[in-house]
Amino acid sequence: MIIDLRSDTVTKPTKGMLQAMMDAKVGDDVFSEDPTVNELEDRLANMFGKPKALFFPSGSMANQTAIKLHTNPGEQVICDKYAHIYNYEAGGASFNSGVSCKLIDGHRGMFTANQVEEAINPDAFYYSQSSLVEIENTTNKGGGACWDFKEILKIKEICDAHHLGFHLDGARLWNALVAKNETTMQYGEVFDTISVCLSKGLGCPVGSVLIGDTDIMKHAIRVRKIFGGNMRQIGYLAAAGLYALDNHIDRLEEDHLKAKEIEQLLSNLTYIKTVEPVETNIVIFELNSDVNEKTFIQKLKDNNILIIGMGSNKLRMVTHLDYTDSMHDYLLSILRSLKF
Ligand SMILES: *Cc1c(COP(=O)(O)O)cnc(C)c1O
Repeated sequence: MIIDLRSDTVTKPTKGMLQAMMDAKVGDDVFSEDPTVNELEDRLANMFGKPKALFFPSGSMANQTAIKLHTNPGEQVICDKYAHIYNYEAGGASFNSGVSCKLIDGHRGMFTANQVEEAINPDAFYYSQSSLVEIENTTNKGGGACWDFKEILKIKEICDAHHLGFHLDGARLWNALVAKNETTMQYGEVFDTISVCLSKGLGCPVGSVLIGDTDIMKHAIRVRKIFGGNMRQIGYLAAAGLYALDNHIDRLEEDHLKAKEIEQLLSNLTYIKTVEPVETNIVIFELNSDVNEKTFIQKLKDNNILIIGMGSNKLRMVTHLDYTDSMHDYLLSILRSLKF
């Protein structure tokens, strides 16, 4: 048995999800004739109170499409220095849209409305034109931290005052909604576009969806085609998404509880220096300076436990659907027993 805590993307479809996939009615989505894809898109659009939603093969493609829809070449996207669109999408913002990122030095991947205001370029011709503000909830590199919704509303005011688009990378928005008791409708009201992942906490094998207003989404399908993301009988994948929306949102609470218990144990262990406050399913921690990171990861691996390093001495564990109660007990006992 391998206990894989490297990411919440390592899950395999449950029996119920596989059955839903097997039973899916499908058609050619390029002709908009896949009934299950259409159902998933309608359902997500309705959940967020938006007119339009579009299925994507990855969260990166959904985010990259959003950036393309909101910007022209030479313009600038305002985001945090930890942002996934800046760090983990292979430079796509510059490659696909010809834009640069103005990075905000935030806290755990989050920033304030004042910082956004300061990051907006003046109107002089020699500046790059600021055109989009992008935030992430929960923050990935920020350790699964959740935004204060009041700050999001303040940023929205700044966006409106300066005619900036507002995009949410909601790869793990489901975790934030459960942790903070917030609703999809709240988010739909504030953002122009929202990407959500079905393949993280929700446990689907593939899939992200971009949700947005009619005007901005008008060309989304063309951009998806340009990026090579048009697909055919993907109702099999959309069926997994529909199943996850019905069955895998509320249970995120369990992942959060386990992550919290890992945090509590780690913060009492002598070989751990610090643990970042756990709010959802991501635990980021730092070892004492005399404990070698590679040795620690290898010792866990020898006990069939996989975790990853995040750079600058930080290590990460992510809880998920396939991380069971017995795996959890086992992990805690191994962590307790390690000596350095
Ligand atoms: C995982 C993730 C994405 C999308 O990643 P893909 O692997 O392209 O699906 C986007 N943003 C954040 C914050 C993520 O964690």
